[in-house]
Amino acid sequence: MIYDSLGRKIDYVRLSVTDRCNLRCTYCMPHDIVFAPKNELLSYEEMLFIMRVLQKKGIRKVRLTGGEPLARKNLMFFLRELSTYGFDEITLTTNGVLVYDYLEELKSLGINRINLSLDTLDKEKFNRVTLRDDFDKVIRALNKMLELGMEVRMNAVLMDGINDDEIESLAGFSIKNKVGVRFIEEMPFDGKSNDKSKNFIDYKSILARIEKAYPGLYKIEDAASSTSLNYKIKGSLGSVGIIPAYSRTFCSTCNRIRLTSFGELKTCLYEGGGVSIRDIIRQYPGDEEKLWETIAKAIAAKYKDGFEAEKENKLGGFKQSMSIIGG
Ligand code: SAM
Ligand code: SF4
Repeated sequence: MIYDSLGRKIDYVRLSVTDRCNLRCTYCMPHDIVFAPKNELLSYEEMLFIMRVLQKKGIRKVRLTGGEPLARKNLMFFLRELSTYGFDEITLTTNGVLVYDYLEELKSLGINRINLSLDTLDKEKFNRVTLRDDFDKVIRALNKMLELGMEVRMNAVLMDGINDDEIESLAGFSIKNKVGVRFIEEMPFDGKSNDKSKNFIDYKSILARIEKAYPGLYKIEDAASSTSLNYKIKGSLGSVGIIPAYSRTFCSTCNRIRLTSFGELKTCLYEGGGVSIRDIIRQYPGDEEKLWETIAKAIAAKYKDGFEAEKENKLGGFKQSMSIIGG
């Protein structure tokens, strides 16, 4: 078991397998982003080495993220190997564009819970937000996930004046579909600006809008360490969640660490650089103890909450894009 100095049990890692993406969501990265050279990224072998050590030390759950995980070549090779490591759960966050052909195999590997990013049900708007014309592919993948009986959470970053007019219809999608529709507060991680987005809408306003549209909305239990506040529309198959990602109401039960595709270990989304695990394993190849010493030290110093991490941010602002941090 791993605990931080505040006694929070750390049992979950979000692993970003690449900083690359086939979409260019405007809230996530600059449209003209230049990706880092490949040798700066962790190789699959390096990631597997780190994951094996984390599993041995008590990490139980892994979520793969990015960039777009499916945009990295041979992801299935990596997942086939990772799925033999004995984690309780491996899940995937994806934009849904490239995943269709791999869904059966993902399911057979035990990867049955998918977070699918979809900010709008309007094709034209999708093109404007993602700067790519891939809406139909995402819907095709979503339908197949549901046919296969996968557990799907549909994540929408909510932005005033962009997709806030769809709060009601997106929430309503959970009535006939067994999907957890979740609204995420926008965070200042677009890789361009330092400030809270001018399109920001807070979680209380989002909830008020959903309650108004669906008066029978009721609260359901949130899983331990959940980042979302979860509700159900009366008679619906699915659920509705709100993630106060900027308001940071969930830090006191945080059980997560993050590993970026560059091998930075982050114990908080809002911290600056993080510790370079990549440099450690390249300097001391195969040395599990040295690796664990570094990770344990970082976990022990995990910030109390995202506000403290923001205050001590060594980069002096939010310079990183979400595609690097990993969602
Ligand atoms: N490409 C995959 C995807 O889009 O699902 C995985 C990586 S993406 C960075 C992970 C999650 O972060 C997505 O749900 C995305 O909507 C969310 N995200 C990206 N930028 C964000 C921002 N500035 N504020 C809040 N959420 C953001
Ligand atoms: Fe790509 Fe996901 Fe970022 Fe959109 S949110 S640009 S799909 S990494």
